[in-house]
Amino acid sequence: MRNDRYQADVPPYALYALLGASLILNVVMVLKIEGGNDAPPPVAVLTDAPAQELVLATPSGSQATPVVDQAVPVTSNSAAVAELAPVADSQGWEVSHASVEHSLARTISNAVDSDADALAAVYSRLFMWDLDLRRDVQKGDQIWMIWQPVEGEEPVVAAAWYKSQKLGRTLQVYRYQAPEDLAPSYWHADGSEASLRLKGGPIEGYDQITSLLKDRPDHRGMDFRAPVGTDVVSPKAGTVTRVNWNHKANGNCIEVRFPDGTHAKFLHLDKLSVRAGEYVQAGQLLAASGNTGHSTAAHLHYELEKGGKTQDPVEYHSTQRRELPAGALEAFALVVNDMDSSLGTAVASR
Ligand SMILES: [Zn+2]
Repeated sequence: MRNDRYQADVPPYALYALLGASLILNVVMVLKIEGGNDAPPPVAVLTDAPAQELVLATPSGSQATPVVDQAVPVTSNSAAVAELAPVADSQGWEVSHASVEHSLARTISNAVDSDADALAAVYSRLFMWDLDLRRDVQKGDQIWMIWQPVEGEEPVVAAAWYKSQKLGRTLQVYRYQAPEDLAPSYWHADGSEASLRLKGGPIEGYDQITSLLKDRPDHRGMDFRAPVGTDVVSPKAGTVTRVNWNHKANGNCIEVRFPDGTHAKFLHLDKLSVRAGEYVQAGQLLAASGNTGHSTAAHLHYELEKGGKTQDPVEYHSTQRRELPAGALEAFALVVNDMDSSLGTAVASR
């Protein structure tokens, strides 16, 4: 059984994601977070979730662009905070706008008083499927965001725009909780989800993909931030070739060989439900996700290898994009309007 839902809500640190790109950001993130090990940020909500009723649409051409990092500024003028009712049930929202000059990290650190590195990470992750901010950022691009610091966790971004000269358009995402979801995620104004999902992937109950294969040269898989105990299933039928090898680094782990010769590795698990030598069906429960081994936050690390070569799960599985159910579009449009009003009044700091 799959756990058709993602839950948590606070955007993670996808630190690894930031590597390679903005030197500054990288350095900051790595130092602050995990020193290069493999772990996504903390999860806010840890519940199991019921089935969802969102529509899954297959995007034309899989836009598997990796995440981000790089040059985008943020400003801070705090107009319009009061109008953020849909997202804010309290004070403290800030509206920031700036033009990109150097890296995203540097711009943000110049523009905000606190949380700059975490904010850069969160912001970058919002656009990871649409734009590779490591390569695609140009001087003069514009960023906007409505955000708020959260004690002990990553800042929350309620809405964000990125005006890309390369794309010739402005990307816009809005935080919104779909009716059947346990936590908010990010959506485009047309009701399509900002992030893509693997078709037939190993885990459904995650709240965010925090690292793609391409995000870090030394990272060979994809990371799904998920509460400990989330179902991890075998994407395909196959044979469990080994469990719990290299336990200090991998924690509780499972490897399954698919009929096409691909080896799938599932790391940092909690409780295992299968043993080495066992044959498993597609969709069969393998384990509960966890935070074991070299991991600093609850997540599943999913890695594919064939003939000694690492495979990109995004290409191996292909992707699909959810859409808000029709019944939610009206309420969502109100949120979008409010956010747009606030962001539209923001004045660039530089
Ligand atoms: Zn990983």
